[in-house]
Amino acid sequence: MFLLFTKKRRPAPKRSARKASPPETLSLPEHGLSFTFQRDRCRTLRLTVKPDGSLLVKAPAAVPLDAVLDFVRSRRAWIRAKQDFFLSHRGEGPQFHDGGTVFFLGRAFTLRTVPPRRGAKPRLMGGREDGHGGPFLELPCKDGTPEAVEAAVKAWRLALAKQVLARRLARLDELARLRLDDGARPAGLTVRSLKRRWGSCTVRGQITLAAQLIELPLPLMDYVICHELCHLRRMDHSPAFRTALRRLLPDARERERRIRLWSLEHPRV
Ligand SMILES: [Zn+2]
Repeated sequence: MFLLFTKKRRPAPKRSARKASPPETLSLPEHGLSFTFQRDRCRTLRLTVKPDGSLLVKAPAAVPLDAVLDFVRSRRAWIRAKQDFFLSHRGEGPQFHDGGTVFFLGRAFTLRTVPPRRGAKPRLMGGREDGHGGPFLELPCKDGTPEAVEAAVKAWRLALAKQVLARRLARLDELARLRLDDGARPAGLTVRSLKRRWGSCTVRGQITLAAQLIELPLPLMDYVICHELCHLRRMDHSPAFRTALRRLLPDARERERRIRLWSLEHPRV
C-alpha cells in the first residue's frame, strides 16, 4: 500500500480581528479604577470582576475606546458591589504546619504533627481532648517543614478521598438509576487533586473527581457527584440536563451557590 504524503499549504490567517490583542492596563483615576483591557473576538463588551477584586474588560474591535471607558464608568456601583462581595468572602488557603487547619466534610480539624512510628497512620479525632481543644488530625510526619507537612496532608487527603468518593459515587449512582429510570452507569472513577474543576465526565463515562471534595460539607460533595452522574445522560448543561439534576437534587441551584461561596472562602491547594 502506498502512502502519499502531500504537503498542503496552510491557509493564511485571516487579517480580521480574529486574534486577541495583548492586554494593557487602563485607568479611570477620577473614580480610582484601573483595569486590564483587551480587544477580543467577543461580540459585545464584557466586564469581569475577578475574585481578587481586579477588573478585566474585553471589547470587540468595532467599539471605540471612549465607549469602553463610558461603559466601565456606568458600571461603577456594580463593580464596587462585586468587589465588596468578594472581599467579604475572601478566605485564606490552608497552612501546612502544626496548629494549621484542614477540613473534612465541612468541619475544621487542627493539624497535629507527630513523629512517624511503625504502623502509625493519620487519625481524625473528633472529640475534645483533656477538656479543651476541638477536633484534630493527628498526622505522622517525618519533619515539621511546610513541604513535609503539605506532602503528608495531601497523601492523607488523596487516600481518604479515594475511599469516601468511591462509596458516595456508588450510592448516588444507584439513586440516579432509580430516580431517572435508566441504566446509565459510570465506566470508572479517578480521584486526584484538582485546582480548578471539581469533577469531569468523559463521553465514555469515565468520571474524575477532585480529592479536595472531601473537604466540602456532604451536601456539596453530593452535588458535584450528582452533576457528573447527570453528564452520563447529557454531556451538556442543557435544560434536559438541568431537569435530570433537579430530579436527583431538588435544591441543586442552592447547592451550586454554596459551592461558589465555599470556593471563595477556602482557596484550593
Ligand atoms: Zn457540567
